[in-house]
Amino acid sequence: RRSNFHCRAIASPPRIVPAQTKLWIDGNFVDAVSGKTFPVINPCTEEIIANVAEADEADVDLAVKAARKAFDTGAWTKMGGRQRGYHMNKLADLLERDAEEFAQLETLDNGKPIFFSRAADIPLSVSHLRYYAGWADKIQGKTIPTGSEHFAYTLHEPIGVCAQITPWNFPLLMATWKIAPALATGNTIVLKVAEQTPLTALKLGELIDEAGIPPGVINILTGYGQTAGHALSHHMDVDKISFTGSTEVGRKILQASAGTNLKSVSLELGGKSAVIVCPDTDVDQAVADTHFALFFNMGQCCVAGSRLFVHEDIYEEFVEKAVAAAKARTVGDPFTQVDQGPQVSQEQFETISGYIQSGIEQGATLATGGRRIGDKGYFIEPTVFTDVRDDMKIYQEEIFGPVMSIIKWRTEEEVIARANQSQYGLGAGIWTKNHNTANRLARALKSGTVWINCYNVFDDALPFGGYKMSGMGRDKGEYALSNYTETKCVITPLENPAW
Ligand code: NAD
Repeated sequence: RRSNFHCRAIASPPRIVPAQTKLWIDGNFVDAVSGKTFPVINPCTEEIIANVAEADEADVDLAVKAARKAFDTGAWTKMGGRQRGYHMNKLADLLERDAEEFAQLETLDNGKPIFFSRAADIPLSVSHLRYYAGWADKIQGKTIPTGSEHFAYTLHEPIGVCAQITPWNFPLLMATWKIAPALATGNTIVLKVAEQTPLTALKLGELIDEAGIPPGVINILTGYGQTAGHALSHHMDVDKISFTGSTEVGRKILQASAGTNLKSVSLELGGKSAVIVCPDTDVDQAVADTHFALFFNMGQCCVAGSRLFVHEDIYEEFVEKAVAAAKARTVGDPFTQVDQGPQVSQEQFETISGYIQSGIEQGATLATGGRRIGDKGYFIEPTVFTDVRDDMKIYQEEIFGPVMSIIKWRTEEEVIARANQSQYGLGAGIWTKNHNTANRLARALKSGTVWINCYNVFDDALPFGGYKMSGMGRDKGEYALSNYTETKCVITPLENPAW
C-alpha cells in the first residue's frame, strides 16, 4: 500500500557489528550456564543482528553471588566515596571516548534515529554518571539533638546487592539512571537489561574493568523477563530491586518481593500523560511542543503526551496544524536523517496497530496516518486521532507508539478532573501565557512531573517518577539516593560513668 509519508530507503547495512554478546559476571564475559543464546533483531530490517547469551536462574545466581562477594569484601563500599566518584568519572570518560560506537549500536538495536542516539541517549548517559560521581563523597547523615543527654547521629549506608531491571526504549540511558546512584552510594549491582535491546549494556561491560571498578560490583545479564527477570526478583540474596517498565510487570516485582525476602522496591512504570493546551497560548508553539511530547522516540516514552487536551476555542486551528505537523514527519532508516525510525519490535508494532484499529472501531476520527509503512521493518505512520472520548481504549491505555489523541475541553475544572481520572500519574504538560493558570493547574495535576510551556526536559538533578500506578520512588537527582541507602541511627550517652 502507498503511504502519504516520506519513507527514506531502508537499504543501509548495519554500520557496526556488536563485539560483545556474553554475560558480564564477576569481571568476566561468560556464556550462559545453559549455553543458550537468543536472537537480537534489527527493527529496521527484521534481520538478526547477533545471538546473545540467554541468562536464566543459574546465571542470575552466579551474578548475585559475585555482587554479594564484592559487597561483603568492601571492595567498592569501603573504598570511600571520593575514590568511587573517581572510577565513575573514569567510566563516563570511557563512554564519551566510545560515544560514536555506542550511538550506532543503540540505533541499530532500538531503531531510534542516529541523531537522537548521538545527541541524547549517549551524552545524557555520560552526564548522568558524572552527576552521581559528584554525589559519591557527599552521602552523609545528620547529627540530631535528642531530648536527653545523648548524642545521636545517622549514617546513610548502602543497602547491599541491588537488582536493576530496565526497558528497551532508552536502553543505555535507563541502565545509567539505575547504575549511577547505586554505585555512588556504595552498592553492588546485577543489571538485567531488556531482551529487545541488550547491546549497549554489554558494550558498557567492556569498559568497567578499564574504569577500575572491581569485579562483581556491576554484573550485566541479558535474558528474558519470565526467566532471568523472574529469578532476579525472587532471589533471596538480593536486597533491593529497582525496575522500569510496564505497570503489569511492576506489580509482579512487588509481589515477588512480598513473597520472598521483602527486598526494597522502587518502580518507574507506565503513563498516560495529560497535556493541556489553554486558549490563551501561542498555538504554533504549543503544536510544536505537543508534537515533540508525543512523537519523540517513536512515541515510546513513558511520559509521552498521549492525552492531548485542547481548549474548544482553538481546537479547529490546533487540529489542522497538529495534523500538518504529523504529516510532515519523515520516517525511515534511522541511520539516515529522519524524524522517526521503526518501532522497537514486532510485538510492539502489533500492539500499536491493535490500538489504532480500536480507535477507528470506537469512533475516533482518524485525521492522518494509521497504516504500516513498507513491508519490512516495524514502521508505522505518524497517526493523529481527533474527537477522542474518555471511554475509548486509546484514551485510557498506554499505546507506546506514534499515535496522538486530541481531546476537546471547555472549563478548567472539567479538564483537571479528566486529566486526573487515570490510573497513571507520571508526566503532564501545560501550555498557557497566564502564570496564575499555570500555577493552579500544576498544583492540581496528580503527576510526578509537570512541564509548563515545555516538555521532555530532563536534567540529571531533577527527580523523576510517578503518582498512583505509575510507580513508587524517584529516579534521578538527590531524591534517588534514598532508593539505595539505609538510614542507620546511632545513639550514645554524652557522659558514661563506666568509661
Ligand atoms: P516489560 O515491563 O515487559 O519489560 C521491561 C523489563 O522487565 C524487561 O527487562 C523485561 O525482560 C523485564 N520483565 C518482563 N517480565 C518480567 C517478569 N515477570 N519478572 C521480572 N522482569 C520481567 O515491558 P515490555 O513488554 O517490553 O513493554 C510492554 C509495555 O510496557 C509497553 O507497551 C509500555 O506500555 C510499557 N513500557 C514502559 C516503559 C517505561 O519506561 N515506563 C518502558 C518500556 C515499556
